[in-house]
Amino acid sequence: MSEDVIVQTLREAIDPAMICTDADTRAFMARDALHPSRLPAGEPVQPVCVVQPRCTEDVAAVLRIANATKCPVIPVGGGSGLMGGASSVIPGIVLDLRQLQAVEIRPADRMADVGAGVTIKALNEAAEPHGLMCGHDPWTVAVATVGGTISTNSLGYLGGKYGAMGDQVLGLEAVLPTGEVIRTRAVEKASTGPSLHPLLIGAEGCFGVITRATLRLVPLPQTRILQAWEFRDFAAGFAAINAILEAGIRPGLLDYGDDEPSAEHDPPCALMVSYEGPKAVAQAEAKAAAAFCAQYRGQLSPRREAERFWHERHASGDAYARARAARQPWNRQRSRFDYLHVALPPSAVLTYRRQCLDLLAQQKCQVHQTGLWDHAGLFSMSYSVGSDTSREDMHRALLTACQDLNGAMEYCHGVGTRLAGLMSREHGVGLDVLRRFKRCLDPNGILNPGKLALTDTDTEAA
Ligand SMILES: Cc1cc2nc3c(=O)[nH]c(=O)nc-3n(C[C@H](O)[C@H](O)[C@H](O)COP(=O)(O)OP(=O)(O)OC[C@H]3O[C@@H](n4cnc5c(N)ncnc54)[C@H](O)[C@@H]3O)c2cc1C
Repeated sequence: MSEDVIVQTLREAIDPAMICTDADTRAFMARDALHPSRLPAGEPVQPVCVVQPRCTEDVAAVLRIANATKCPVIPVGGGSGLMGGASSVIPGIVLDLRQLQAVEIRPADRMADVGAGVTIKALNEAAEPHGLMCGHDPWTVAVATVGGTISTNSLGYLGGKYGAMGDQVLGLEAVLPTGEVIRTRAVEKASTGPSLHPLLIGAEGCFGVITRATLRLVPLPQTRILQAWEFRDFAAGFAAINAILEAGIRPGLLDYGDDEPSAEHDPPCALMVSYEGPKAVAQAEAKAAAAFCAQYRGQLSPRREAERFWHERHASGDAYARARAARQPWNRQRSRFDYLHVALPPSAVLTYRRQCLDLLAQQKCQVHQTGLWDHAGLFSMSYSVGSDTSREDMHRALLTACQDLNGAMEYCHGVGTRLAGLMSREHGVGLDVLRRFKRCLDPNGILNPGKLALTDTDTEAA
């Protein structure tokens, strides 16, 4: 069916004011935060149109038409994803979900019923007067939406204590590619067969469109004790962090990183950490954890360093939010720069870090930072490749080295198009199982094609 006929069919089914066909808007909404130079297929393609549904029934109407006409649908929230999950790689209907703005705080249940388009910041603003907050605190609070953060199973600064976004989800409403609506019961725990809502967590808009979620809220901490520590090298602080976690202490913030390490040089490493909750508990945790830091020769830095870090933690996400709102480019073309966020068994972290530093040194690449976030097994690194090295080849070599140590190639940004080529290596037979789920839920393959390597034709080469 031609694009004009699809748009006309949509206009007959939903309020035409929700449908936008202007070329600039379509081009803008075809992109997320992944720089096109990292999109395996190159520049995004021009969508057929952009639809801004106002309610679940609007979403269902769009999906019924898309399914009948076999037209792709690309769900988009804040557009801050870094893996191309919300980018248009095949012309289709971009479903801009930001108008799904309902928020109801249920203080007695410590829950919130939230529309998929609500940002985490807006959710927190609604929860705060009730002494509650969302346990998920990504850099991008001002732009990332409930639907997008669930669909990437995003992780934030407080993830070590409260878990990832998926851990906040108690129940979901979602529209399946056929237009059917599922609503799961929002309770702490059910034993009534396999739960359905986890199928949508981290599914990157490939299994269904989330329209509403019931999220867990946590009490605003009575006390938050912030500390900054410096360790002589990565391994020393790593040992202290392991000791803290082994003792059952759960820091809120746990952000650990160095500056410009190399195969020959292990610079000092800074730990930003918080202990939070009831005052007596936070104080006891801070005291016990400080003893472990001291045991591994950590030096306590002035508290203002930790406070500055805490207050500035959303700065780059806020910058992205402003750029996106103004439809301006956000990331400069940094053709040699790259980063990874991998999950490993903690006992493999130092080995992996050493392998990365050696591999990058062999290729004369520069490492900017290595670090941990939230947990001893969540390792991040940023680096720039040398002029003789292919950025994509290096990225693949580093991620496959992680997989070979029984790690997972990404812990927070998802797969999108960027990592799709490594999905088979990541999941083995499991990828076939995921593809069977996909075929069952989405027989015409309309939802977010080209993402997560969920169709047999998706590329297998990274
Ligand atoms: C500067 C910067 C800092 C960042 N910091 C963090 C961080 O701290 N932690 C982190 O985890 N990530 C971070 N990210 C990445 C990004 O913010 C997260 O991936 C976030 O979860 C994406 O939310 P979004 O609403 O922008 O989703 P989008 O980018 O719009 O979409 C992400 C994926 O979800 C799908 N999707 C969106 N809405 C729905 C829906 N309602 N139903 C079904 N599928 C849907 C899309 O199709 C896509 O596959 C950062 C990005 C930037 C640019």
